[in-house]
Amino acid sequence: MAVSKDLQGAIDLAARVLDDLGIKEPPVPSSFIHFIDPTRPVHVSIEPLGRLTRGATMLAPDGSEWRVVLNANDRVEVRRFTLAHEAFHIACGTGLAFRRDGMGQFYECSLADHFASHLLIPETWLRALEHPRAGVLAHRCKTSVAAAARRVSSALRA
Ligand SMILES: [Zn+2]
Repeated sequence: MAVSKDLQGAIDLAARVLDDLGIKEPPVPSSFIHFIDPTRPVHVSIEPLGRLTRGATMLAPDGSEWRVVLNANDRVEVRRFTLAHEAFHIACGTGLAFRRDGMGQFYECSLADHFASHLLIPETWLRALEHPRAGVLAHRCKTSVAAAARRVSSALRA
């Protein structure tokens, strides 16, 4: 997928993935990861990683597959967000990327967070709730309450 590396590009890509996969209601199935790169399989594993590392993505040295590692110590909702974050790096063709807390200052990681946020909690699902509350959204969309709260506050600012 061609990705324009700016905020709108990340948001548009999330909408395109949902559209291509025909996903119309929450929660987004985590199998989305297998449709990000049509030319290579994505191998996802769950392993205990350091406390500040949410996950990592790497292209196999021979270029044959993507390897995504998620932190076994994270709750499943957090791992879903990390998976969506890593999917953005795959879409960008970034050969090696980590998701660590505090990495938001790195441009592609900040876009990856926006992508994940819009993929798991698209605008239409947010707007469907008259008074969007983070707890309700988190439950419906299977994200952490923190991720849902960030999504609600960014939508209110927009
Ligand atoms: Zn990242």
